[in-house]
Amino acid sequence: MVAIIGVLALQGDFTRHEEMLRSLGYKVRAVRYPTELEDLAGLIIPGGESTTISKQLDAGGLREGILALSRTRPVMGTCAGLILMARMSSDTRVNSLSLLDVAVSRNGWGRQVHSFTTSITMQANRHQDTIPAVFIRAPRIEDVGPEVEVLARIGDEPVLVRQGFHLGATFHPELTQNALVHELFLSALPI
Ligand code: GLN
Repeated sequence: MVAIIGVLALQGDFTRHEEMLRSLGYKVRAVRYPTELEDLAGLIIPGGESTTISKQLDAGGLREGILALSRTRPVMGTCAGLILMARMSSDTRVNSLSLLDVAVSRNGWGRQVHSFTTSITMQANRHQDTIPAVFIRAPRIEDVGPEVEVLARIGDEPVLVRQGFHLGATFHPELTQNALVHELFLSALPI
């Protein structure tokens, strides 16, 4: 049986995640309703507008289902998705899922640095790889709890974090041709 990976498709940049997962041989389901969380092997929460996604999670009754799934299945959040997974965010309109013990500030790079692309070194599972990273109105990770592993940084700043089997990236791995972050997420799937 091929594992089905869910991509939360309420708002934002979900299609590129779907394409990336399909290119890696996985079945993908766009998730808009709680019943669509059933039987998923993992879930991606994409970028977009975290305040909007947060409202829609509650309006659509998805929060509880995602929390239940996250107890046994890996969840990866990119950009706004990471903000939703963080324990705390600078914006009180974001009702966090608290899946990663990090504090983030929304749009933390300021207006001047709206978006940029750079290369970062990712260190995980005894591999070290240089990967391209696209940042778009990205959050900054300002505090990291003791259970959180920092897998990549820019300078001193964490940009890719892992806690248990959950991953959070302040950047958009789905916007490049490089699949290593998705492969890392998929390597945590239950077999
Ligand atoms: N700035 C957005 C937010 O705060 C995130 C941007 C993104 O996901 N590319 O929700």
